[in-house]
Amino acid sequence: MIQRFDTIAVDLPVPKSANPAAAAAVQELMGGKFGEMSTLMNYTFQSFNFRGKKQYRPFYDLLCNIATEEYSHIEAVAAAINLLLTGATPRIDRNESPLPKTTNSKTTKARTKPPTVSGKADPAPLADALGATYPYHFLAGAQSAMPFDSMGNPWTGSYVTATGNLKLDLLHNFFLECGARAGKMRVYEMCDDPTARAMVGYLLVRGGVHIVAYAKALEKLTGANVGALLPIPDVSNKKFPEAMKHEANGVHRIMWHFSPEDYTELDQIWNGPHPEDGEELEFRRNEMPPMFPWPEAPDEPQLVSPGAIDPDMINYYAKKLG
Ligand code: MN
Ligand code: MN
Repeated sequence: MIQRFDTIAVDLPVPKSANPAAAAAVQELMGGKFGEMSTLMNYTFQSFNFRGKKQYRPFYDLLCNIATEEYSHIEAVAAAINLLLTGATPRIDRNESPLPKTTNSKTTKARTKPPTVSGKADPAPLADALGATYPYHFLAGAQSAMPFDSMGNPWTGSYVTATGNLKLDLLHNFFLECGARAGKMRVYEMCDDPTARAMVGYLLVRGGVHIVAYAKALEKLTGANVGALLPIPDVSNKKFPEAMKHEANGVHRIMWHFSPEDYTELDQIWNGPHPEDGEELEFRRNEMPPMFPWPEAPDEPQLVSPGAIDPDMINYYAKKLG
């Protein structure tokens, strides 16, 4: 079972202006093959299907705890996308309804047809979205995050690998986290937007924790020195200022506890020195990570947005429905 908190895991700055192109790139971190939906669902299904918990309890506990953290990562990606899309259609005046204004109640009563857009209203209020790199944000969504990759391909369950072989699953997870890290670095390199980079910086650090966790798990299970492969790709998080900020606070060596009392045996794996900087790894038992409020999301005046609903139209339909 999952318990939910109405917060997000990273403090995201509000962008100075909308950046739909950056939002499009960030979609890859949501619904791409190596995106956060993939890490969430891979570990979730592996944990559902885990057999032999008696012998392998620490591995199961680690998997469950990381799977739960990944939910907070899809939230962070969604919040960043929504911030980047806010205000992307400035042709719409937030205070102006696109529907015709009526000056007296008689006009409302006399209507026999639903109100239509008058000649005065902007005939194409979403025209600014026409050249968007990612039209789905406007055509198939409400200028908000979608469970798709950066090309508009829907996330698919075929991205999930759960072989039932612990060594193979851990090896896959190690690879998946390294691939996810490459994706985050590419988004960072494409977008200099501070909101996108704040989110990516945090996820680089937390993804780094998961890479080390799966490396440690493979080391415990097999004796192989998997940590010697790191970092993959061959650039330290300390090169990214938005990630370095978190590493300076030790976020790269902390495993928080996403359960009030379960999954405690993960500390049999999450211990010893960090393979890159030698600092001691730490399991923060009974402690959730710092939490931040969801950024304010003003309504976008579209077809279903409260700000765009004309009282006359409401009255018209209310009457029709009796
Ligand atoms: Mn993640
Ligand atoms: Mn991860």
